[in-house]
Amino acid sequence: MKVSDIFASMVFSDAVMRERLPKETYNAIQRTIRDGRSLDINAANVIANTMKDWAIEKGATHYTHWFQPMTGITAEKHDSFVSFSGDGRMIMEFSGKELVQGESDASSFPSGGLRSTFEARGYTAWDATSYAFIKDGVLCIPTAFCSYGGEALDKKTPLLRSMEALNRQTKRVLALFGNNASMVRPTVGPEQEYFLIDREVYEKRRDLIYTGRTLFGAKPPKGQDLDDHYFGSIKPRVQEFMTELDVELWKLGIYAKTEHNEAAPAQHELAPVFDTTNIAVDHNQITMELMQKIAKRHGMICLLHEKPFAGVNGSGKHNNWSLTTDAGTNLLEPGETPSENAQFLLFLAAVIKAVDDYQDLLRISVASAGNDHRLGAAEAPPAIVSMFLGDELTAILDAIVEGSAYDAREQELMRIGVHTLPKFPKDNTDRNRTSPFAFTGNKFEFRMLGSAASVSGANVVLNTAVAESLRQFADELEGCENFEDSLHSLIRRVISDHKRIIFNGNGYSEEWEAEAERRGLLNLRTTPDCLPYYLREKNIELFRTHKVFSETEIRSRYDILMENYSKIINIEALTMIDMVRRDILPAVSSYCAKLAESAMSKRTFIYANISADPGTQKRSVATYEEDTVIRMNTLTEEVYADTDKLYDVVASAHGISDVTGQAIAYKDSVLPLMEKIRRAVDELEEMTSPDFWPYPSYGEILFSIG
Ligand code: ADP
Ligand code: MG
Repeated sequence: MKVSDIFASMVFSDAVMRERLPKETYNAIQRTIRDGRSLDINAANVIANTMKDWAIEKGATHYTHWFQPMTGITAEKHDSFVSFSGDGRMIMEFSGKELVQGESDASSFPSGGLRSTFEARGYTAWDATSYAFIKDGVLCIPTAFCSYGGEALDKKTPLLRSMEALNRQTKRVLALFGNNASMVRPTVGPEQEYFLIDREVYEKRRDLIYTGRTLFGAKPPKGQDLDDHYFGSIKPRVQEFMTELDVELWKLGIYAKTEHNEAAPAQHELAPVFDTTNIAVDHNQITMELMQKIAKRHGMICLLHEKPFAGVNGSGKHNNWSLTTDAGTNLLEPGETPSENAQFLLFLAAVIKAVDDYQDLLRISVASAGNDHRLGAAEAPPAIVSMFLGDELTAILDAIVEGSAYDAREQELMRIGVHTLPKFPKDNTDRNRTSPFAFTGNKFEFRMLGSAASVSGANVVLNTAVAESLRQFADELEGCENFEDSLHSLIRRVISDHKRIIFNGNGYSEEWEAEAERRGLLNLRTTPDCLPYYLREKNIELFRTHKVFSETEIRSRYDILMENYSKIINIEALTMIDMVRRDILPAVSSYCAKLAESAMSKRTFIYANISADPGTQKRSVATYEEDTVIRMNTLTEEVYADTDKLYDVVASAHGISDVTGQAIAYKDSVLPLMEKIRRAVDELEEMTSPDFWPYPSYGEILFSIG
């Protein structure tokens, strides 16, 4: 099988459109894709009809407006192409109106109060820049999802708006350099981490089933200590899964390029070739969905949770991000000529300023109950946002600020636009894995994202924040008298104002935490800690200026995110209570009874048989059983009491109506108690015979794929 034979075979791609659409319709859709012009109904009808015929040829019977509500997973409601003609015959129909806009009773999707149930209608509008595709016999039309009043109810609408804002401001800046690009798009390549475990083992753990992570589990004798899994040889069952996944992704035009084992046992990574951001986001959603589906076909479960196992590395996503013009120029590629270099440095300065000014929003964009377990846990970037530029680039920026010569041999004043920058060898730039935001030669890699979440949010912030830097730059430079001088002083000022965000050292170290505090950088450890920053005036202003979110939309999203955090911890706590009460305490009790019985019978036996022995008085009898029973009893009493307490604490947190207060209650009173219970239960697990323990152990889960 050749990749080229199947690649994008299930996509209504540019090639398919070019081949099947009449020329003027093809041109019309091109204009829509390129310039965002709306499509007239006649063209839409022709496209819809062609799309339907193509889909039916490929075996599809239904279509759906495929969208990404705030739940974070994709939603689809299938409609059949079938309708009935006046004489009762069945015909297959699909109109332009149905293609371009759908109406969906979506009252059950989170809207953060934006849409009350009495006006439950939500509208879906085709995102023509992301191609339609066929998945499981259904023609999927990538769409944005809005309320009756036009407020965004999904993760795509703000993303498209942020891309538009970035396009607008970037073009202004490029024009100053004489570049008349007609379109600039951000590009993204998200590297996706995940775990694969055996399905039978999974089904024995209600914590994994209900919460996606283990709430208990003693450390196995072997974890990731030997680092022998990273890039290790891939097991046959996993290989079969990866091969099938590749094929299915290729059919959908998703070019999965590299797949390898990750640091933890049973952990893997998939990296696609980068694409325009909205397409990359859609593709990442499809990838996650297919991973889960295909794993099941191989008797496995794909865990996308950020921290399925305590004490073992969690999973994240690396969001590789850059900016590309319609001519294919990567604006974050250091150039060959002085002018290209000046332009590169200006874009670099824009990103530095954006990351510093909007550290809080970047932190918020990756915040979730799951990711809180990971950030700052010496395996993932800390919760402090900083940037790694590498020594070489940092030295250049220092030289600009100091006004000193970068190259000692040259002994000349470093002047933007006058001197050529050295080529940055890529290898020098991306070796620091501890940095949350690293320059990697020709792109930035934002590494704080969690594995389960949509990558949309992080890109909305990144695009908008950089658009804001560029807006300010363009405002300043557009009317200036001497462009080179103004450019030089702007870059110099921006670097000097924002260089506190640059940190090339070890992001996992304690010294960095202290140093970051001295520098005045934010360290927002948890979701409830960071979310309130969303509502700061400067952040509302940012989104409002660039028409990415209205204040109402921000407030609704704030509510949804806070509520979501509380809901997740609520489910986790209830699952924990259920497991302790129904499985763990009974198991421990039986095992203790067995030990106690054994101690008694040993004693009876020994006293009956050897009492004549003068040494009996000193002989120790059943010490193992006794000590274990006593320790287990202490722990059992503790777990029993704490579980009752947890029940009460959860009930009172659940009763809090203010979303912020509620999330804080879950964080401050529910989570610490859950951790305490877990510690005691894990110790109990270490003492209990596996014959009695109700769940597969960490060892059995992590090494479940033979
Ligand atoms: P790593 O060393 O982190 O594994 P790779 O070189 O394998 O890095 O690239 C990681 C990801 O970066 C890939 O998904 C790749 O497509 C993406 N990438 C490369 N260039 C760009 C770019 N210009 N814009 C966005 N993503 C990019
Ligand atoms: Mg990477």
